Amino acid sequence: MQDQIFKEALTHKVFEYITKATDELGLDSYVIGGFVRDFILKRGNAKDIDVVTVGSGIDLAKKVASLLPNKPKVQIFKTYGTAMLRFNDIEVEFVGARKESYKEDSRNPEVSAGTLQDDQDRRDFTINALALSLNASSFGKLLDPFDGIGDLERKIIKTPLDPDITYSDDPLRMMRAIRFATQLNFTIEKNSLDAITKNAERIKIITRERIVDELNKIMASPVPSIGFLLLEKTGLLHKILPELIALKGVEEVEGQTHKDNFYHTLEVVDNISKHTEDVWLRWAALLHDIGKAPTKKFDKRNGWTFHSHEFVGSKMVYKLFKRLKMPLNNKMKFVQKMVLLSSRPIVLASEVTDSAVRRLIFDAGDDIDSLMTLCEADITTKNPKKFRRYHKNFEIVRQKIKEVEERDRVRNFQPPITGEEIMKTFNLKPCREIGQIKEAIKEAILEGEIPNEYEASYNFMLQKAKDIGLTAQTEI
Ligand code: ATP
Repeated sequence: MQDQIFKEALTHKVFEYITKATDELGLDSYVIGGFVRDFILKRGNAKDIDVVTVGSGIDLAKKVASLLPNKPKVQIFKTYGTAMLRFNDIEVEFVGARKESYKEDSRNPEVSAGTLQDDQDRRDFTINALALSLNASSFGKLLDPFDGIGDLERKIIKTPLDPDITYSDDPLRMMRAIRFATQLNFTIEKNSLDAITKNAERIKIITRERIVDELNKIMASPVPSIGFLLLEKTGLLHKILPELIALKGVEEVEGQTHKDNFYHTLEVVDNISKHTEDVWLRWAALLHDIGKAPTKKFDKRNGWTFHSHEFVGSKMVYKLFKRLKMPLNNKMKFVQKMVLLSSRPIVLASEVTDSAVRRLIFDAGDDIDSLMTLCEADITTKNPKKFRRYHKNFEIVRQKIKEVEERDRVRNFQPPITGEEIMKTFNLKPCREIGQIKEAIKEAILEGEIPNEYEASYNFMLQKAKDIGLTAQTEI
């Protein structure tokens, strides 16, 4: 076969300098991996370039930096023998071609200098082992020993060498395989899939941070269920998110069944992904029903019930985030809040009263739109009539939310009377009554007994105080 040349991939100015440096040092250098793959897939302009050279990556990086007009700083990572520099909008990483050998208990191999072929052998997938020459004499020539180009056309994820060894050596590759399959909508080749299933247990040597990185990339993909189904099929999900596995299956008692909440959940995640790029809202969709497994009950009168699954689920979110070393910050709180409130709009859909809408806006605050998006994604009925009806109901709820919010402004609502003012008015030291009065004002506003205004709240406070035997020291 004739050599394929991809000069058009190498139009960025930085390549001119890498070529010059390579030839001046008498080395052989290549751009390799994701950059080449994404160019062929036309996945937009890459901002990361990986350069491998048969020799010292650090020396090459220094030479390139000395030639570049902006004389960038070279960041050197001695332990890994790599170096990185920035030029305009692009980040270039340099590494010497290497051979790897692995030990049982670590994904960090022993490395020694090697040839380009050695370096391509250690790559995770055939589509990630594509290299383009950067030497002037062969500029843009493709080196593709495993027919990665063919696999890109066939849309296949496949390891260059024996998959069993590849995945066992570095089990992170199992997550990467599933992540690429999800991002690119590719199929994992059968031998690879079998090897992942066989080695699933080895995921335990991978840090949770790295696992979560891959999960987040799956979550940010157009159809995340592709990844979650593969994680489930290979047994990885059992180890990473057993809470989801617990949702699998349909039980039947006395002829009554409930839906399979695992597949339902994945549908919800795919649905919501059509409407939001926010990975945390997608996480909320993934976890919105996790409380259903521990709360599931059957009795003759009520059939299947999942009492307080939203509350139980929101508590589980914290434990799950902690276990996976995910951030325990406002993102986690947002997911908890979505899970906790996930059934509220559904209740409203059958009877939309002003006070219930006010309460929902008060509880959801600025996240009310996200909550509605979640509830709409939760509609997975296959009955077209019901599907239309449920969506229509939520449209009414959304409209009502808009009206009530415009009129009453309860989003991020702070009661117009502060605790301090109550203390001053009745000459009180901090005590239980202050809380009682504050709560009563809030309730009266949410119930619509009084408007969300200062004067009405003040008068209500006086009345309430009188009821519990307090007298005002000052009047407006
Ligand atoms: P993306 O930027 O979408 O994650 P990428 O392919 O550029 O894609 P990187 O993680 O930046 O991914 O890795 C760069 C290259 O290094 C890959 O294309 C692959 O050749 C190689 N690589 C990365 N991680 C591994 C691994 N765990 N095992 C083997 N090769 C790997």
